[in-house]
Amino acid sequence: MKLTILGCYAATPRTFTNPTSQILEIKNRLFLIDCGEGTQVQLRKNKIRFSKINHIFISHLHGDHFFGLVGLVSTFSLLNRTTDLHIYGPKGIKEIIKLQLRLSNSWTNYGLFFHELESLESEILFEDEKVLVQTIPLKHRVYTNGFLFQEKIGYRKLNLDAVQNYEIDSCYYQKIKNGKDITLQDGRVIENDKLTFDPIPTKSYAFCSDTVYHEAIIPIIANSTVLYHESTFLQSEENLAKKTLHCTAKEAATIALKADVGQLILGHYSTRYEKIELFKDEAETVFSEVLLADDGKRFEF
Ligand SMILES: [Zn+2]
Ligand SMILES: [Zn+2]
Repeated sequence: MKLTILGCYAATPRTFTNPTSQILEIKNRLFLIDCGEGTQVQLRKNKIRFSKINHIFISHLHGDHFFGLVGLVSTFSLLNRTTDLHIYGPKGIKEIIKLQLRLSNSWTNYGLFFHELESLESEILFEDEKVLVQTIPLKHRVYTNGFLFQEKIGYRKLNLDAVQNYEIDSCYYQKIKNGKDITLQDGRVIENDKLTFDPIPTKSYAFCSDTVYHEAIIPIIANSTVLYHESTFLQSEENLAKKTLHCTAKEAATIALKADVGQLILGHYSTRYEKIELFKDEAETVFSEVLLADDGKRFEF
């Protein structure tokens, strides 16, 4: 999986910082997560091909998470896109985008499909043979979801020495990779674990922004390979975090610890602080595997 941070700062765009947007590459699929103002420019700067984006996930309808969306939707038209585009986001997102397109006498020459969300329970949004995406209901000032992206478990790996030893015909290989036992011509049954190795462990990425400290997400994100969790404030602004339904770095780290994730990436920093390293220092008092998001930064896992 490859994660490119296009923007990870709270509130207004500034000269060198952008509001929330990320690109996740998973099993050759490219997903756009949130689309703050400036996302198109950031996509260009990071050399990401617009045409490869077919699914956009919007966490909530605060401007710093979706004000770039109508611009991107209309640019796709200018680029003569013909592939369908799917947008997943809170109820109301279709009305906002359609109204802007209608009043500017714009249209799309490709299929534009909205998948509006209003459930308070986690639900599956996207599924194909290799990837599963589900919501992580968050708690914020407006209806908000995070998103969990999971690789599906692949086929078992063939133990070539073993299958050749048993002189098993190659036409059975797929069946074996699917986990089936094999009956030889002499009637002996060879159990699958004698013919295969375990598949490569799957990875998962949980995106959680924006939210107040919310332990209800822990069962959904438990054991994720990587968790991106908002940390708008430091503990010194704990009260402000509670009031605005955001988190501190320490709270984000506590969620990471309790959910037993592999790594924590912090982001959605308030621009009031001098340097973002302060967030890492604070989070590391609770959880050791802390990374800092920053605009243009790439993570591979
Ligand atoms: Zn925000
Ligand atoms: Zn927000």
